[in-house]
Amino acid sequence: MNAEIIAIGSELLTPFRQDTNSLFLTDRLNTLGIEVDFKSVVGDDREHLVNAARIAFGRADVILFMGGLGPTEDDLTRECVAEALGIELRRDPGLTGDLYKWFAGRRLKMPESNLKQADVLAGAVSLPNANGTAPGQWLETEWADRKLVIALLPGPPREIKPLFDEQVMPRLRAIAPGEVIATRVLKVAMMGESACDELAAKVYKKYRDIQTTILGGAGEVQLHLRGRAKTLELAKAKVDRLADELEDALDPHLFSSAGESLEQIVGYYLDMRGVTIATAESCTGGLVAERLTAVAGSSRYFLGGVIAYSNDLKTGFVDIQPLLIKEHGAVSREIAVALAEGIRKRCGAQLGVGVTGIAGPGGGSEEKPVGLVYCALADGKKTEVVQKNFPGDRERVRWFASQQALDMVRRKLSA
Ligand code: AMP
Ligand code: MG
Repeated sequence: MNAEIIAIGSELLTPFRQDTNSLFLTDRLNTLGIEVDFKSVVGDDREHLVNAARIAFGRADVILFMGGLGPTEDDLTRECVAEALGIELRRDPGLTGDLYKWFAGRRLKMPESNLKQADVLAGAVSLPNANGTAPGQWLETEWADRKLVIALLPGPPREIKPLFDEQVMPRLRAIAPGEVIATRVLKVAMMGESACDELAAKVYKKYRDIQTTILGGAGEVQLHLRGRAKTLELAKAKVDRLADELEDALDPHLFSSAGESLEQIVGYYLDMRGVTIATAESCTGGLVAERLTAVAGSSRYFLGGVIAYSNDLKTGFVDIQPLLIKEHGAVSREIAVALAEGIRKRCGAQLGVGVTGIAGPGGGSEEKPVGLVYCALADGKKTEVVQKNFPGDRERVRWFASQQALDMVRRKLSA
């Protein structure tokens, strides 16, 4: 059984609004073992909507439409789905009464145009909307000799979510194929996508019935695993077996086996080991501290830090000798080390992190190009320092650098 999701609204085709509901719907469908094969976004246009509906009816078993159920001229979903199916809309007297009551309850006069929200596809069941005036609809029908399940759902996230969970999920569960999908996300830090795949492929190729997708990002590769079985326990067990083997194959690069972020994992280790940390950042502008403090409970281990952007602050706040900067330059191995050691002492922390680099787009030279970053980690005995040349624009270089710094902390504490 496969599904298609159609999001309706011209605003969803602009740079300002995104179709987020389909992520929610996909998650729910997957728990019932229903795969989403297609997603479409269609503007508020009669012809386009009828065409999109017809295409979906020809290729999917479950078609979920959302948006365009309001009372205004551009709310066309009901009419267009009826036209695509070649069926009628019928004005439901019960729904008409509900609309009058809804407005009367708020001491408002109902505009005539609102009545179209009481129009129901012939043969459909209306789905009351507890959080708005547009009810949803559920229709089981046949089209070109195939059985179709069609749902019309309201667009606003706060309306669609409860309506879907309470009224659509039980109906879908009753007709779902009786298989469920379990998913798991593994994450690997500071490793290239192909290097990761080289290690992982040996393992996941043995598991033909589990879909493994590899997604590369700045300083992070994610492995998304999906397996199906009769019950959630069986599906999970299948996926877990592969995940366990991948964990071994990707050690020590793998940092998360259940979707956690790098800062969550670093926080977990710091907390568990009772270790405190402080940061002195230049090119990352506080990104390492921002990520550390994004985790609830971080006050237990993160003492604080400084964005030592100017040389004066590097000398004034982190006690770096001016001569050291003069000799090596602010972007150097020596300054990264001095930032880590200086902030560690200044804050009385057990670990100190120092980051300095050239985020670009300007400021690079032959000797010190854009993307050059030094990250250091001091523990009071020895200080590690890593030099990297990160690719990409300013934002990407800064993210890479924060990822590198956090991963150094993780590796130290997980050893
Ligand atoms: P509509 O039901 O078309 O009047 O949509 C009402 C509002 O719901 C829109 O202005 C959007 O803000 C929101 N909305 C509609 N469709 C979606 C979607 N697919 N994802 C997220 N928000 C949506
Ligand atoms: Mg709309």
